[in-house]
Amino acid sequence: MKNLALHWKILIGMVLGVVVGIAFSNLEGGKQLIQDWVKPFGKIFINALKLIAVPLILASLIKGVSDLKDISKLSKMGGRTIVTYVVTTVIAVSIGLVLVNIIKPGNSITEETRKELVQNYTNKTKKYKDEAKNQQNSGPLQALVDLVPSNIISAASNNRNMLQVIFFAVFFGIGLILIPEEKSKTVKDFFDGFNEVILKMIDLIMLAAPYGVFALLAALVVESPSADLFKALGWYALTVILGLLIMILFYNVIVFIFTKKTPKFFMNGISPAQLLAFSTSSSAATLPVTMERVSEHLGVDEEVTSFVLPIGATINMDGTSLYQAVAAVFIAQAFGMDLTLGTQLGIIATATLASIGSAAVPGAGMVMLVIVLAQAGIPEAGLALIFAIDRPLDMCRTTVNVTGDAAVSMIVAKSIDKLGEPDIKDWDDNYKK
Ligand code: ASP
Repeated sequence: MKNLALHWKILIGMVLGVVVGIAFSNLEGGKQLIQDWVKPFGKIFINALKLIAVPLILASLIKGVSDLKDISKLSKMGGRTIVTYVVTTVIAVSIGLVLVNIIKPGNSITEETRKELVQNYTNKTKKYKDEAKNQQNSGPLQALVDLVPSNIISAASNNRNMLQVIFFAVFFGIGLILIPEEKSKTVKDFFDGFNEVILKMIDLIMLAAPYGVFALLAALVVESPSADLFKALGWYALTVILGLLIMILFYNVIVFIFTKKTPKFFMNGISPAQLLAFSTSSSAATLPVTMERVSEHLGVDEEVTSFVLPIGATINMDGTSLYQAVAAVFIAQAFGMDLTLGTQLGIIATATLASIGSAAVPGAGMVMLVIVLAQAGIPEAGLALIFAIDRPLDMCRTTVNVTGDAAVSMIVAKSIDKLGEPDIKDWDDNYKK
């Protein structure tokens, strides 16, 4: 057990979590027992990961940008990162649209099931609609305004403001490049050391990962809705999952084409982050682990990971955009609406923008889906149709979101000659073989 690779340990934790969850669901009082005595450990694990996110971004990005020594390098990397992110997202939405038009999962929903779902879940979707309304009410340049914090302490006090922290760190890093070396050296050394400490803390948190995911999954299983719902929404879920699998395949292909690294190398390196993304449904909570895996196990220089991955976790959500496309058309089909080609092309644009605007937390994709539906003229009430099985699909799409960030960082690194061999520094030495 001691020598088992980390991803196997996490996988065992997940399987045991599901088994225990199922067993306790069938016991009287079992659900309460898991909620009282197991679920808190999952929460502690997620909190520990989130705790690391802001200091990690600050330290690694300031170090990464100042190491570049030259601002033109930053703009080159920034340009390539954004373009690649947008291209992969558009591809993801298009794959989703093609699949949902071929499979037509909405047609398998009976009138009766539709009414039942709308009746049972409309109240629960209110929170998402309200949140989306707040976003919709703001002006077209609000996203730009939101990028620049007026106070770094308050920006850093909320994990949802990750882009603001990124802005500050990049700005600070640029300042550091521009001052004389004898003045910047102490500051750089400080952030260098700070960064090392944070990476070590991630190593320590990851020792608890198998137990953390066990607790998370056991709690999810006892709280999950009845299996009948999964059957009713089976075709929809299958369409989303098939699309997500195609995306994983797509990443492996582009990583191979651009970097010549094999799928085995890529998947072995990134799998612990994928498993965590699956268990936590949050790219933000997974970010520390993604960064560690990509730099130490996939050989991407820290200058690149520190820049590309935090930005990716917040704006690059291929899994989310694919899901939004499938969900929007599925709802339209279930309501007997025929979407024109023009509307579907509109969905490509809004789902791409919506995934950029989605926060990297559980359920965020559903909030932005409200906006996609509104733009396409699809009834918002349809949200109730997909609500019940959103969480398992969120787990799957978050896994794809994180994989996409890792793939893009490898491609960007290769394009600027910053892709090397893995340099494994942690407890998990199995990958050296
Ligand atoms: N949970 C997703 C993430 O954090 C966002 C979403 O699709 O809801 O990446």
